[in-house]
Amino acid sequence: MIPYGRQEITAADEAAVLEVLRSDYLTTGPKVPEFEHALRTLTGAEYAFAMNSATSALHVACLALGLGPGRALWVPAITFAASANCARLCGAPVDFVDVDPLTCNIDVAALEARLVDAERDGMLPAAVMPVHMGGSPCEMSRLLALRDRFGFRLIEDASHAIGAHWDGAPIGSGRWSDATIFSFHPVKIITTAEGGALLCNDPELATRVELLRTHGITRRPDLLALSDPPGWHYEQHLLGLNYRMTDLQAALGCSQLHRLEDYIRRRNEIAGIYRQRLAHLPLHCQTVAANARSSYHLFIVQLRDDAPMDRRALFDHLRAAGIGVNVHYIPVYHHPYYRALGFRPGHCPGAETYYARALSIPMFATLSEADQTHVIETIDAALS
Ligand SMILES: *Cc1c(COP(=O)(O)O)cnc(C)c1O
Repeated sequence: MIPYGRQEITAADEAAVLEVLRSDYLTTGPKVPEFEHALRTLTGAEYAFAMNSATSALHVACLALGLGPGRALWVPAITFAASANCARLCGAPVDFVDVDPLTCNIDVAALEARLVDAERDGMLPAAVMPVHMGGSPCEMSRLLALRDRFGFRLIEDASHAIGAHWDGAPIGSGRWSDATIFSFHPVKIITTAEGGALLCNDPELATRVELLRTHGITRRPDLLALSDPPGWHYEQHLLGLNYRMTDLQAALGCSQLHRLEDYIRRRNEIAGIYRQRLAHLPLHCQTVAANARSSYHLFIVQLRDDAPMDRRALFDHLRAAGIGVNVHYIPVYHHPYYRALGFRPGHCPGAETYYARALSIPMFATLSEADQTHVIETIDAALS
């Protein structure tokens, strides 16, 4: 089976992890700060906090930005459930904003219309979380303008988008949002096995994030209530969690990060070949904005109405042919957990249209030319 995505682990990655395993620190030694420094260098962000998953980093972002009862999060309907769950874990209400089926990203015009209504009704959200679907950046300049007009916080779920660019600057720079989250799950662009990071530029937010990641506990002299503390002293200032990344994971992350640019180049090359060689078929390939570079975590196609088979038939056909296609994602409000909160299928028409047609086909840096050709020819034979 050719999977839809997979990691690459090199001899250098293995050596980096083994070195940590034989060292004094398995967790939070020198490698975590080294990885965080590398993430800051990559993005230009002032602060980077590595954590044990992107889900943890999203949860911390919601806690640090004060989401909770009466302070809602709005997320696009098409995303992984964790984008919405992080707010529910804080007791915050969640609502879903429609997506543009062509870009697969949050529909900024629909968002604006919803915000105008919400302002009139006194129901503005505390935060909005754009998700860069498949690594294709959302319209960040327009989202930033809406943030400044309506006064909510912007959290980028960039789980798919390390290495992507908007307007020539890296996603994660913090130029258009309050916080950005990366995921290092093995299917994503680079991996730490499990892992994530939160990047931001605001020092006060950064301090809350730093505390929330480790039980709310600090040894930072500038934060301690006690003056002239003894050497063993530490203080808990907030109710926090243990969301730390290990040094084993950070060493893997540092090693992988050296290949990020090569990976993004290769993924863009694969995408270019798909676009060219699938162009004559009744498929829409995800639209990427002209001023953006996608990191191509996913390559998403959507079947047009004139296709000779529907998405389910094509999915089954390709799986039977050994091609590990997948669907990203089921609209989050379809899940029984969200239905129990009162959401119903049909809530977001654009998301429903997208979901009826979408398919992710194999996309990863080590996809061979022969395997990509096999994928293209199998799809071509099915749809011609
Ligand atoms: C993968 C993913 C997450 C969660 O990442 P983990 O590191 O597995 O916790 C969150 N949001 C989106 C959009 C994702 O794709």
